[in-house]
Amino acid sequence: MKTSAEAVIIGGGVMGCSVLHHLAALGMRDTALLEQNVLGSGSTGRSLAILRMHYSNPITSIMAWRSLRAFRDFPDEVGHPSGYVNTGYFLIVDPSDRGAMEENLAMQRGLGIDARAVSKDEVGELAPMLRVDESEAVAYEPQSGMADPYLVTVGYAQRACDAGARLTTGAEVVSIGVGGGRVRSVTTAGGDVIHTPRVLVAAGPWSRRLVSPLGVDLPLEAVRHQAVMVRRPDRLVPTHPIVGDITQGIMIRPHSGDFTVVAAGEDPADVGGYNEGVDPDTVADVIPKLARRMPDMAGGYFRGGWSGLFTVTPDWHPIMDRVEGVEGLYCAVGFSGHGFKLSPMIGLCMAEMMAHGESASLDVSPFRMSRFQEEDLLTSKYSYNVLA
Ligand SMILES: Cc1cc2nc3c(=O)[nH]c(=O)nc-3n(C[C@H](O)[C@H](O)[C@H](O)COP(=O)(O)OP(=O)(O)OC[C@H]3O[C@@H](n4cnc5c(N)ncnc54)[C@H](O)[C@@H]3O)c2cc1C
Repeated sequence: MKTSAEAVIIGGGVMGCSVLHHLAALGMRDTALLEQNVLGSGSTGRSLAILRMHYSNPITSIMAWRSLRAFRDFPDEVGHPSGYVNTGYFLIVDPSDRGAMEENLAMQRGLGIDARAVSKDEVGELAPMLRVDESEAVAYEPQSGMADPYLVTVGYAQRACDAGARLTTGAEVVSIGVGGGRVRSVTTAGGDVIHTPRVLVAAGPWSRRLVSPLGVDLPLEAVRHQAVMVRRPDRLVPTHPIVGDITQGIMIRPHSGDFTVVAAGEDPADVGGYNEGVDPDTVADVIPKLARRMPDMAGGYFRGGWSGLFTVTPDWHPIMDRVEGVEGLYCAVGFSGHGFKLSPMIGLCMAEMMAHGESASLDVSPFRMSRFQEEDLLTSKYSYNVLA
């Protein structure tokens, strides 16, 4: 292993690999990414990878919108497939949230996003398999969809390595060396040391314990989210759009083959070990909800599933920042259940911050770490965390 680098990235999820690629694109190629396991083995590989743009704050909507275009243009810009599929996205909220939804839609349209409220009749025309009540409020984003988190992660990594970046899997970073108030090195479990002036922590739910020996307390907790797979009665429901069914607390997306994934749950979890399958109670809860929303899915049946971890901050929005008091230390963490869709812009903005001192493409100061002490949290018009 080469013993020096201009920058070291800890973590080979979609964030670490996106930053590695964007650093290379900015001309910083003497870089090293260290991944303790294999690429995408953390939250990324378990992601539903839904791409939608409905948020309560402009910074997240604009990041999601610009990122959506990056997923769409990925083959031209990165040279690899992203697996982007344009399914359209329906958001369904309680009647009491209609006003909040309309405000968010107006904000989105102001940013150039194609998003609008639709009536029950329009839903019937656009997505005949969907059933909504007259009173429910429904938003529609025609351009939204999903991508493949593994293809995106590996695509970024491959492109960066082609440009000269180095990537080592099976390399757990056990310490970040600091001297004179600034980052000096990282050390792996195998005893390798890389001397560097810049370190990015992009270690997902493991990030908190990685930096705590430096006296840095990242306000991160892990919560478990479950994804239940259902075999579709494909002649009745050949495919369907993505549905954020907030009134029932589930997300629904089509999966390859004739499968549908229904996701739910936000239970506190231990990053050191958690149930990676799905709970029988959750299966029994979400399948009737799916059939309520898509009646023809009543003939579908359970075909397994998985769980993964959200890394959450107190406001369920990420931290993208320098770490105060440790010159050269950066973090891109706390993406909860909505980081994948932002990953192209997160990679670009963090790479600009690391290479040029500031994120020129977008002011990401709303995601600064000090907002928690300043009690300047990003707020939501809804009471639902993931939509925040
Ligand atoms: C079930 C589920 C569904 C989701 N659905 C969506 C969705 O529909 N849309 C969306 O936008 N987002 C979704 N998300 C969220 C999204 O997947 C995450 O926000 C995103 O993948 C976070 O990427 P990351 O690179 O920060 O973290 P991770 O993917 O967890 O990557 C961190 C990496 O760091 C490595 N690492 C940790 N410690 C060390 C160390 N000491 N040394 C070296 N390597 C280390 C880990 O092995 C891991 O590979 C979902 C998440 C889950 C779990």
